[in-house]
Amino acid sequence: MALTTEYATARISFDTDYVSTIDGTAVTSPTTADVFNPATGQVIASVPVTTEAQLDEAIGAARRAFPGWAATPLRERQAIVSAIGDRLAEHAEDFMALLTREQGKPRAGAEWEVLGSAAWFKEIATQSLPEETLLDTEERRVVTRATPVGVVGAIVPWNFPILLAVWKIAPALVAGCTIVVKPSPFTPLCDLKLVELVQDLLPPGVLSAVSGDDDLGKWMTAHPGLDKIAFTGSSETGKHVMASAAGTLKRLTLELGGNDPAIVLPDVDPQKVAPAVFWAAFQNNAQFCNAAKRVFIHEDVYDAVRDALVAYARTVKVGDGGEADTQLGPIQNEPQFRKVREFFDDCHAQGHTFALGGEITDGPGWFVPVTLVDNPPEDSRLVVEEPFGPILPLLKWSDEQDVIRRANDTPYGLGASVWGKDLAAVERVGRQIDAGTVWLNEVHQYSPHQVFGGHKESGIGAENSLHGLAEYTNWQTITLNKAPDAV
Ligand code: NAD
Repeated sequence: MALTTEYATARISFDTDYVSTIDGTAVTSPTTADVFNPATGQVIASVPVTTEAQLDEAIGAARRAFPGWAATPLRERQAIVSAIGDRLAEHAEDFMALLTREQGKPRAGAEWEVLGSAAWFKEIATQSLPEETLLDTEERRVVTRATPVGVVGAIVPWNFPILLAVWKIAPALVAGCTIVVKPSPFTPLCDLKLVELVQDLLPPGVLSAVSGDDDLGKWMTAHPGLDKIAFTGSSETGKHVMASAAGTLKRLTLELGGNDPAIVLPDVDPQKVAPAVFWAAFQNNAQFCNAAKRVFIHEDVYDAVRDALVAYARTVKVGDGGEADTQLGPIQNEPQFRKVREFFDDCHAQGHTFALGGEITDGPGWFVPVTLVDNPPEDSRLVVEEPFGPILPLLKWSDEQDVIRRANDTPYGLGASVWGKDLAAVERVGRQIDAGTVWLNEVHQYSPHQVFGGHKESGIGAENSLHGLAEYTNWQTITLNKAPDAV
């Protein structure tokens, strides 16, 4: 352990000094890892690589802090979580600039994420799980209540580094849990700064952040000092998390991958639906669990919608998120860039037709052109797997039951959207999709009060709403026999 600083927030620089926070203290590590700006490929910062001993300290501090925090009145915990939201909002400009630098997303996306995260803290702070009295007679009382689950480990991906950390931090703290956050090694900067910035609002050890590599995630999932893992990431890693957590029977919330269908009905106006479907697929440069990853277009409007998508896509500027007119940034990291490139190579090798794009040019930066693939086979890699980058298959359909079957023919079940003027048809189709969120004539509408989670291999459990809050608690039934002569 080294480097203790006072948490006078005015002293926090957003450009340098990225530290872990353990037991209310800023901590460096013997080794550091580089963090890159994906638009340039340049190193922009270095962060501590937390050791196993330091993780033990963070979890030990969280365990010591837990009884006091759990006993803190709910209203006080809610007020603190709300104040964390205010603190984030006060520093919104710094966080947006840093988020663009480390993640690559342009200003509009950074604004949505940072201001949304601040709003999330404030809204989750209004939630509670009141005790339920099931029976209260002269003889007996039976009460069900939700008690905090204990110490939580939060493991966060790189596509929405702040928001997906906040989706874990806010309900954990409201529920009375203490929490250790592990950001993605690709995007640790905003999360480290956020946790550092709010330490003066919390007792030491209640909220810690440890930066490190994937080993750190493995140590966390196996650690006997953690009672729950809240994880967002790929389905593949989610399975490792679940296997590793089984050793200590940890509670788990797993928010995993998706292969969301967007189904376009025959009565749409192609010019109107094209921009909506475009952003359904390409928001956050398609590095989005809930991106539309398979677009099923009715054969009557297929050509018109495809052509309108191509025309619209040509108007969208891809570039450095730091430039004012950029709408789509780069791929966030080099391994992901290589993975996306494999999908391009496979489409070329299989002879698929590109309606737009298809050629990746070499850097600087990990840029990939917006690419639309014209009706590839249903069993092609692009249709079956999650590319997590801006390459999208357009698929033709003619029969309603068949397109529903095709939409559901995936191990994933995260989200879906249906687009059409006939609202009865839109709803009829939507209700037959096996996914956690189904959007009808809109997409990517989230709320702190709206449950979010995946079906099938897209996840276990849920985030947001009282259902999400409940995942940070254990149910407890308390019965009382009031009869004076009972004992
Ligand atoms: P990832 O699974 O590679 O990594 C996620 C996190 O897990 C990172 O912090 C990583 O360091 C850590 N990790 C890696 N290996 C680990 C292990 N063995 N044990 C414990 N932790 C480990 O995912 P990613 O590439 O960062 O994110 C992209 C994926 O996340 C996509 O599949 C996407 O669909 C999914 N995602 C899902 C949601 C959702 O809410 N359902 C949201 C965003 C992203």
